[in-house]
Amino acid sequence: MSTPDGSAAPDKSQNSSSQDASTSSSANAITPKGRKVIVSTPEAKRLLLFRTPKRHWARMKQWYSDVKALTYPGNHRDCWLYPMPYKKKYQGTIRKTFAHTDEKVSYKAGLPFGIVALLIRYQLTREQKKNIVKGWELSHLCGNWTCCNWRHFTIEDHSTNVNRNRCFRHRQRCQHTPRCMIYKKKPLSELTPSPPASQESSQDASEAPATPFRQPPN
Ligand SMILES: [Zn+2]
Ligand SMILES: [Zn+2]
Repeated sequence: MSTPDGSAAPDKSQNSSSQDASTSSSANAITPKGRKVIVSTPEAKRLLLFRTPKRHWARMKQWYSDVKALTYPGNHRDCWLYPMPYKKKYQGTIRKTFAHTDEKVSYKAGLPFGIVALLIRYQLTREQKKNIVKGWELSHLCGNWTCCNWRHFTIEDHSTNVNRNRCFRHRQRCQHTPRCMIYKKKPLSELTPSPPASQESSQDASEAPATPFRQPPN
C-alpha cells in the first residue's frame, strides 16, 4: 500500500492559488506539433479531474480500494479512520501526486484522497470540479481529518472549511450547507497515535468530547 497521502484537515489543507478553470485550459494545452507544454498546477488539476488519463483512473481506483480495505469499519455510516503514523506536527492531508505526459502536455498535480474518492465514485459535479481547480478544497463534514468515508466529504472554499471548526467545538449552531456531522466528531487523540512517552503534549485540550450532540437533518 502506498504512502498515506490524503484527505485534508479542516484548517490545514492546502490553499492553492486561484485561477479560473475555464480560461486557464485553452491557453496552455494546445501546442505546436511535437512540443510538450508543462502546464500550471491548476491546469494540471483541471486535466486530472475532467480528462483523467486511464492509467491514473486505474491508480485512483486502486488507491481507493486499498484505503477502504484498511479503514472500512463494517458499515457505510461511520468514519473510516486512516491509521496515521505519529508525527509531531499533523500533516493534515493524505494525498498522492499524479504525473502524466503525452504527445501534447506534461503535468503533475497532487490530489487529496478525498477528492480522488469523490471523483472515482462519480460524486463530483462539473461545478465542484471547476471550484477545485480554482482552489476550493476537500472538507470533512465529520470534522475528522483522517476519515476516508466519501459520504462525509464536501468541496468548499477554505474559509468555510475552517469555519466548520466552530461547530465541532460547539461554539456555534451549525448553519452550514451541507450540515456538519457534529455527532461524529472525535477528539484528535483518537485520530492519531500518542506521542512517545517523553513528548506528551496538551494540543488536544481544546477539543470537544466525542459525545453525541445534535443530529443534523441530513
Ligand atoms: Zn467521517
Ligand atoms: Zn457547521
